[in-house]
Amino acid sequence: MFETAAPGVGRLGIVFVNVFALGEPGGPWLLVDAGLAGSSGLIRRAAARRFGAGARPEGILLTHGHFDHVGAARDLADAWEVPLYAHPLEMPYLTGRSDYPPRDPTMGGAMAQMSRLMPDHGYDFGDRVRELSADGGVPGLPGWRWLHTPGHTPGHVSLYREEDGVLLAADAFATMNLDSWTAYVTRKRELSRPSPPFTFDWGTTRRSIEKLAGLEPEVLAAGHGLVMEGTRVAPELRDFARSFTPPRRGRYVGSPPVADEGGIEELPPPVPDPYARRAAGTFVVGLLLLALTRRRR
Ligand SMILES: [Zn+2]
Ligand SMILES: [Zn+2]
Repeated sequence: MFETAAPGVGRLGIVFVNVFALGEPGGPWLLVDAGLAGSSGLIRRAAARRFGAGARPEGILLTHGHFDHVGAARDLADAWEVPLYAHPLEMPYLTGRSDYPPRDPTMGGAMAQMSRLMPDHGYDFGDRVRELSADGGVPGLPGWRWLHTPGHTPGHVSLYREEDGVLLAADAFATMNLDSWTAYVTRKRELSRPSPPFTFDWGTTRRSIEKLAGLEPEVLAAGHGLVMEGTRVAPELRDFARSFTPPRRGRYVGSPPVADEGGIEELPPPVPDPYARRAAGTFVVGLLLLALTRRRR
């Protein structure tokens, strides 16, 4: 079930990732991201409860094309017969032209270890995909605009409602520490860098966070973690941007891949993976923790 994150903003947590629904029952609404593969039934039931049986969104806005944000995109778009909207620079990964750069688990940490079994390929959603309108408008919701916040991926976008300072950051940053195993159970709210094994340009990531901090938002809803709100979140986000640190090591730290409208052009060479041997053990721990989280919802 969608829980209310702000007026007209519903958050649905699916294992470790969030899906958002924007809009009020009876009016136009938009789904933001599409969770993990296999979650279309869950999302459709939650949407029917919030907006009424048979209600269809204006579309599904994909903040970027990572597997945990587009998993049910095709099923939902087919069921509702609606378009998928994304930034032009994310198109190569949504229309079968390019895979993302290979995930990089060499920095270590919880997400890095779990990422070894996570997909890093692109998707082909064919002609379901449309480019977001260049004027920053969001389909059906005049109070919202999208902002290009690249770094995590080239065409990553965040959403902002100026009227009451609600920021949907997606994976520009996280509101939980994705590197910590216990954070997946405790859900402790904490401004944190986006998923390290899947983030490809740390300098650009930092500039995007600075841009978002400049908005002085009052509600922070990210792709991973619980919602943070109140007068303290704007200064916290500013401090976070100022002291932002990429992982100490990693294949793309210091030498990001080169990407253009066609997708990935150039990759830095692989680097040694000091955590590979520990991967099996940590993966079992990760599975147990995820099973626990699931039972708590
Ligand atoms: Zn992502
Ligand atoms: Zn994500």
